[in-house]
Order: sequence, then structure tokens, then C-alpha cells
Amino acid sequence: MQVEHDSPVRTLFFDRALLPGGWAKDVRLSIRSGTFSSIDADCTPRPGEERQSCALPGMPNLHSHAFQRAMAGMAEHRGPAGNSFWTWREIMYRFLDRMNPDDVRAVAALAYMEMLEGGFTRVGEFHYLHHDQDGQRYAAIAEMSGAIIAAAADSGIGMTLLPVLYSHSGFGAQPPIQGQRRFLNDMDQFARLLNEARRIAEALPDAIVGVAPHSLRAVSAEQLASLGDMQPHGPIHIHIAEQMKEVDDCLAWSGKRPVEWLLSHADVDEHWCLVHATHLTAKETLSLAQSGAVAGLCPITEANLGDGLFPALDYVAAGGRYGIGSDSNVLIDATEELRLLEYGQRLTLRGRNIMAEGAGQSTGASLYQHALSGGSAALGVKAGIAPGAAADLVSLDMEHPSLLGKADAMLDAFIFASGRTAIDCVWRRGERVVTGGRHVKREAILRAYSVTLQKLIA
Ligand code: ZN
Repeated sequence: MQVEHDSPVRTLFFDRALLPGGWAKDVRLSIRSGTFSSIDADCTPRPGEERQSCALPGMPNLHSHAFQRAMAGMAEHRGPAGNSFWTWREIMYRFLDRMNPDDVRAVAALAYMEMLEGGFTRVGEFHYLHHDQDGQRYAAIAEMSGAIIAAAADSGIGMTLLPVLYSHSGFGAQPPIQGQRRFLNDMDQFARLLNEARRIAEALPDAIVGVAPHSLRAVSAEQLASLGDMQPHGPIHIHIAEQMKEVDDCLAWSGKRPVEWLLSHADVDEHWCLVHATHLTAKETLSLAQSGAVAGLCPITEANLGDGLFPALDYVAAGGRYGIGSDSNVLIDATEELRLLEYGQRLTLRGRNIMAEGAGQSTGASLYQHALSGGSAALGVKAGIAPGAAADLVSLDMEHPSLLGKADAMLDAFIFASGRTAIDCVWRRGERVVTGGRHVKREAILRAYSVTLQKLIA
């Protein structure tokens, strides 16, 4: 029988690497079966050992709707009246009406390739497009989940699949509308879909399957309780308090605000990720921070959709955890998510270095370490360059003009000055999937995407 420690050990050597305790020099990373087996600093490179300059742990992307990548840029024309999240959603519903499983696979593979090129090494796919164009389930009930898993395999990205339960169109179990027919399941059908998705995901070496009640609009209180029972220890994600209309509707329905209602009706703990949680009172901010849940912040999408601004300073001061997500995938770039998170706070609070941990601390390092830790927890994996964690790495081009001479301010220069243009290589489970800033399968993935997009927009 093949035992784990018989598998070969590979090594990578870096001049500098960001470890959980901070920067280390002359670091040898030993990798076995896709995970770090040992990490040694202050080493001397062995003869012939390939030497790289600077390694960061890959960033988790805790919230994505991959198919929306194909409509990026198509909802930026001013309509006759009321341009809001809700008018954007109408365009999105019309777009996804046309997609079949092969289309979803091609678009998702492109989005995942861009995530890897943009510094993300694992994605939480909040997956709600389950059924065919008529709203009928496919012969294989989790066929669309299979398309997402296949796209993860095509690109090499780590996958935390979050099959979404969606049953209603509004608070108080209102009946769904026509544009939602491809999302809908009752509890029995969802349980079958979830089991099948778990079976399909076994084909990927480190895939994780969680669950996602879409929002308090889309599931009933009873369904929410049942879902918690179905996934007691795994990731459970929910959209919440993204829009003021949602807050007002929740108040009209229950007398409570969405986060207030959730925290008092569900056992929200460190297994939960509350995506957006934009509109919070001071009391909700404190309660959410104390729950141990992760706030899933998606600054680019939240800005694009005009959602509002998360009270990040108060939340972090109360010990709150957060990660970042690319959500609508209108633009995919880990550094820009972090930069915009900080800049949103600077613009409203009229100050600088808001998200730095304290006096003398680097804002970039604080942002990166918080989002790494919170994002990993939300996706159900161990964080960072540490024994037992997946060997997911991003290396930077230290000759990039924005990074030259910035060794002591590396993460600040990366996040605020170079952005993703300084990314050189990316490894997933110890295999190089991006080199010189380009995915190794870029041409093939782009070709398949191009064929699909021409069909979708014809
Ligand atoms: Zn979302």
C-alpha cells in the first residue's frame, strides 16, 4: 500500500517569504503531495536548486459568481431611470438565461485563470445556476456543479464549492419570479443536489463543498435551520445586508435588520461567512465581530453596484475577521480588492492607513494577513505558508519598478503601487500554473471562452 510519506518531496527556494510570523529570508519550502511538509528559514541553497526572489501565500477569493465574468462591462450604460443593484440584476438574469453547462465551464475557467494570474489561489464559488433554460433539472441533477468543478480542474485553482439554496423571491417566503427559475430547489431536491456535488468534487484533490443559503430573501427561516443541520462543521455562506432595500424589507417583515435577525435566529460561528454585511448598526458591528464569523467583503463589486461601505475600522477594532471576494468578477485583482477596501475607509474617514493594525504597522501587511487568515477560514482551509497547508504561492518580480528598493515595504508597494502587474509566478499545490504573469494554459482557456462569448452575445 502506498503511504503518504513515500510520495516524493519537492523543494522551492526563496530569498524571502512571508510566513505566518512575518518575513523570513533564505527559505526552503518542502512540498509533499501538494502540501507543505516543512519550512526552513536561513538556509543555504543546494547546488542546482532553483532560486526565486519573493514568495507570498496565495490569497483566498471567498466569494465568486464565475459566470458573471462574461457580462463584465455590459451594465455600465445609464438607463432611462433608477440605475441600481436591482436594474443590474435584471441584466444579469437575462444574460444567464442563455448559458448551458459548457458555457459555464468555459466562462468559469477564464475567470479562474484570471484569479490565479491576479493572486488568488482558491475560490469560494457561490453557485446558484443549477437548472436548464426552462427551469427543469438536468438529468444529472448537479450537472452545473460539475461544470464548475471541471473549470477548476481546467485552471488548477483550489475550489470551495458552495451550492446555493434558493427558493423564494422575498422575505416571508414570497413566490419566485421567472428570472429565478434556474436557481430553485426545495429542501429535498437540494439535499440530492448537494450529495451529488460532493461526489463530483471528490475528483479534485483538495476541493471542499459547503452550503450557501442565498440570502434571507431567498430562503425561509425553517430552511435556514435545516441547512445549518446539513452542514454543522463546514463552510456556510450567505449574502446579507448588501442593499438598503434589503434592510428595509427585512425590518418590515420581522422588525429586525438582516444581520440582527440572523445572529438571533442561527448559530452563527466561525464556520459562517456573511457576504457583504455592508449595512450595520454599531451594535450589529460588534455582535458580528464577536460571533467569530468572517465578513466577506467584495470592495470592487460593492463599488460597482453602489452598495455602500462596510464599517471596517470599528469592526476590526472589535476583533472582527474579514476576507475578500471578487463576487461579480467585473474586474479580478486581489491587490485592487485590498486597495479599494483601504481607500473606501480613507475617503469616508478622511484619514490614512486606516486598516493598519496600529502605530508603526504596515497597512499592506495588515490587509494581506487579515484577508489571508479570514479568507482561508471562510473557505475551510489552513492559511498561509505553514506545514500541512496547501502549497499555494505567489511570487513577485523584484525588478518591477514599483518594488525596486522596497524590500521593507513590500506588501505596501505591491498593493498600493504595482498591483497585479508585479506578479511573476503562481503555484498551486506546488505546481506552477502561472509563469511570467501568464497562466500556462492561457491560450486554450481563452480560445474556449471566445467561442462561448461570441455565442452568448450574438
Ligand atoms: Zn454575491
